[in-house]
Amino acid sequence: MIRGWTVDRDGVRGWLVVDTLRDGLSFGGTRFSPTVTADEVAELARCMTWKLHAHGLPVGGAKAGLAVDPDDPDLPRKLRVFAEGLREPLTTCAVIGKDLGATNAMLDAIYAALGVPQLHLVQRRHAASPGRLRDLAGYRRAMTGQGLAWAARALLGADSLQGARVAIQGAGVVGRGAALRLGELGARTVAISDVAGTMRASAGLDPDAPHAPTLPRDAALAEPVDLLVLAAGSHVVDATLAWTIQAPVVVEGANFGLTPGARAALRERGVTVLPDVLANSAAAAMTARQLAAGGALGDAALWDGIEQAIDGRVRACMRWCGRHGGTLRDASLALAADAWPT
Ligand code: NAD
Repeated sequence: MIRGWTVDRDGVRGWLVVDTLRDGLSFGGTRFSPTVTADEVAELARCMTWKLHAHGLPVGGAKAGLAVDPDDPDLPRKLRVFAEGLREPLTTCAVIGKDLGATNAMLDAIYAALGVPQLHLVQRRHAASPGRLRDLAGYRRAMTGQGLAWAARALLGADSLQGARVAIQGAGVVGRGAALRLGELGARTVAISDVAGTMRASAGLDPDAPHAPTLPRDAALAEPVDLLVLAAGSHVVDATLAWTIQAPVVVEGANFGLTPGARAALRERGVTVLPDVLANSAAAAMTARQLAAGGALGDAALWDGIEQAIDGRVRACMRWCGRHGGTLRDASLALAADAWPT
């Protein structure tokens, strides 16, 4: 970690961690949740570095968190206190965007309190850069799902994805995006869950269909499928749940979707895990690449680069596992550590 900042005053608790810097710049999302902690923010900032490393670390990895209920009526004041407490990193080295619980309005309020555009650090380097993250070119539907599908294809081979049966935990942005993009590569999502329960769709899920669960929440994990995608949230699958998983391959779409105990259980059972740092880097990579380029990358250069980087990193990790043993997570962390010792 390069440095962490804590805001703890006037009933406001929040954190920002800059895990790595590239040319003096770092980027990460901001988590708004009553339960977010300093450790979680540091862990997510490190995860950001690992993800971006596969893309050449265009900018460093960072993360912020504010311990607040997004519906708190006192939110506007808390956002101002949070922004003021983080003035130094936000005006020198860190660009923050959205993570769980965040809205554009919250990020706008933070930067309005600072009196600078969200991308003012980028505009200092590239005068033509837009002022806000959401005005960067290159956003596409189901970005994270797209990268997840490319990573799964690199791991399993394009032929194996044809007709593969998929179950998904989490029917949100990542889960539905994964269903869409894996579907484009020939796979079929046959079960998907959210907090309310699991919905089966034996003929294949329409990613835009409303969620109509008929089975218990965790039934999706026990479906006899070829691929299970975890897209619900951090540390949602523990060791007990891991023992119910039937799929031979688990794709960790959520950051830290598996607890350490769950990782150990799956390893013991011989289940292959495509870890978060390989599976869900596409949206972060898109933003980081544009920040480094001042928003100047065209769609083809941007997305061809992301596809090649994900494909290349998964294959490099598979080769590393072949030489050293260990998991794909071990491999991706080892490859990152080799090039950027921290
Ligand atoms: P989201 O809020 O859109 O969706 C989460 C879904 O999970 C919801 O449908 C919710 O009902 C469901 N869920 C929650 N707990 C569950 C449980 N125990 N069992 C089954 N379903 C459950 O969130 P998202 O944006 O899709 O993000 C999901 C995860 O992926 C998070 O960990 C996030 O940090 C990570 N992530 C998101 C992106 C992105 O582009 N949105 C990128 C990288 C990583």
